[in-house]
Amino acid sequence: MTDMTPQQQQILLSLDLTISETDILHWLALDTPEQLSDEQLLAVLMVTNACYRAGFPLITDAVYDHQYLAQLQARDPQHAFLLQVEPEVASAKTVALPQKMLSTDKAYSFSEIQKWIERLRKAAADIELSEEDILIRVTPKLDGYAAFDDGQGLYTRGDGVRGQDVSRAFTRGMQVAMKGERGLGPGEIVISKSYFAEKLSEQFENSRNIQAAIIAEKNVEPSVKQAIDDGACVFFPFALLPNWTGHFAAVLTDFDDIIEPIWSSVDVDIDGVILETTHPELKSAMGATRHHHRWQIAFKVNDESAEVEVVSVTPQTSRTGRISPVAELVPTKLSGATISRATVHHYNMVRTNGVGPGAIVQLVRSGLVIPKIEQVLHAVTPQIPEQCPSCDTHLLWEADHLICPNKTDCPAQTENTLVHFFKTLGNNDGFGPKVIAKLLQQGVKHIHSIYALSQDDLLAYGFGEKTTFNLLEQLTVSRSVAVEDWRFLAAFGVSRLGGGNCEKLLQHHTLTELFTLDVATMVTIDGFAEVSAQAIVEGLANIKDEFFKVYNLGFNLALTPKLADGAGGDSILFGKQIVFTGSMTSGSRSDMEKSAKLLGAKIGKSVSSKTTFLVTGEKVGTNKINAAKDKGVTVLTESQYLELVD
Ligand SMILES: [Zn+2]
Repeated sequence: MTDMTPQQQQILLSLDLTISETDILHWLALDTPEQLSDEQLLAVLMVTNACYRAGFPLITDAVYDHQYLAQLQARDPQHAFLLQVEPEVASAKTVALPQKMLSTDKAYSFSEIQKWIERLRKAAADIELSEEDILIRVTPKLDGYAAFDDGQGLYTRGDGVRGQDVSRAFTRGMQVAMKGERGLGPGEIVISKSYFAEKLSEQFENSRNIQAAIIAEKNVEPSVKQAIDDGACVFFPFALLPNWTGHFAAVLTDFDDIIEPIWSSVDVDIDGVILETTHPELKSAMGATRHHHRWQIAFKVNDESAEVEVVSVTPQTSRTGRISPVAELVPTKLSGATISRATVHHYNMVRTNGVGPGAIVQLVRSGLVIPKIEQVLHAVTPQIPEQCPSCDTHLLWEADHLICPNKTDCPAQTENTLVHFFKTLGNNDGFGPKVIAKLLQQGVKHIHSIYALSQDDLLAYGFGEKTTFNLLEQLTVSRSVAVEDWRFLAAFGVSRLGGGNCEKLLQHHTLTELFTLDVATMVTIDGFAEVSAQAIVEGLANIKDEFFKVYNLGFNLALTPKLADGAGGDSILFGKQIVFTGSMTSGSRSDMEKSAKLLGAKIGKSVSSKTTFLVTGEKVGTNKINAAKDKGVTVLTESQYLELVD
């Protein structure tokens, strides 16, 4: 948030509150008003309301209404402030978009593209435009969340005319893609596909859940905030899209060659390509329908759906013991491929939606991804398995999932764990499902026993000479090629220890130290709530023996850089919650917060019983200091604090 204007500063002074401009700006910059104390919230409301009424608004109406006012309403519906301020017109829900955002007409075949180009040529002839001037720009069609950035705010597409103000996505730190500037108009909020696969796919079903979280009013989850900070969730203005631009004749002759590189030109989900003419006069001559611009068309190849009959639902035991329901289908042609099976999300969906033999489901294939069961059109009585298909152990329900609790001796879990290990390491090949299955039949159940295999063993198990040589070679390669330590740990497949979480933990502790951490220590690391920490500590204990057997074989591990290298664990701030308040003299408060974070501190926004230190800058009232002391918080002046961390 930028500084207050002189007018706003004047208004603040006139209110005669003992609050500085820095305080207000700091509070407004928090992720959510939930982080404010009652007094802080009231101060924010008074100041922003006064600025708004004077004609120099600090925040948008929508943010004022839906965040701060709503927060006060939630805390105290009878609060005097609510009664004294007359309600604003309820139009704050949607705002008029700076420019209409239409949908795009769609083509599913090349002949439709040919027809569209014919229309371009005809329109060009009508305005006596030379055919030479009909250039076409081809860009990827982003499959994100459409929005409009006018440089001031960010608005959803809504009905194309009015949308919602979701500027909070930028407030939360979201960047413009390609290091672009604000104010480039229409675009989409998108998430890096590779980042999603690596760091978020365990927690989220698909990237849509995250797009929703970024613009939602409620506070974003730590992993989403991290993705924003890592630059993985961005606003991608259409103007900055990679593109092919050339003459329409080339589009007609080299269509496939032109669109293919476009299809893979960005690391985000796309569901087609967009073709549009770039000539301004031709564009205005062609105009728009209520629904779409006539000078633009989307070419989509793989977004088809079909109604398909389910033959059966087969339970499959995954690495973690979850039972995945796989629907076997009457083979159906869908966007060029014959589909005969699809995964159902979980057994609760099978149970509640009635997916079983004879059920009719709607299957959707979008992009080049595996088809999904979108909805159940005709339900039947589902068959819910009681035993693990692999080890016959009685299954248990855990939230939406059926799980096999046999952690030590379930062949399917073992097989998938071994496959997962080599696949996650990613520096070798050879140990795919077939080889692993064959080894399992011979009683080779552990990663460390795979590494102990000799040439004689493999030959005796029936592998050919060449395969044996290759497999042994791959085992050597997997240990000698450098692999990140977080990837190595993630390869063991502990629940909630995907690559992202492994990396976070390893920024604070070494690989071997992690096995000694207790829950209380783990929750001091940003991003680990009690429940996850509990599961991770248990998971690590379960793999400890196997882990060290493998680790001691000697892998070439690239270590994750430690946050606050050399200081971290020794710093007096490590794992402590610290709150900064008032204006600081030695640097900006946010810089001080950053450096405290690097020393391992957790930054609190207001004092609570969890706070260890309150660092007070200038203009901090004695009430605040006394209240902190009452909570057992150590109150430090800025210089005392600097001495402490020096
Ligand atoms: Zn089992």
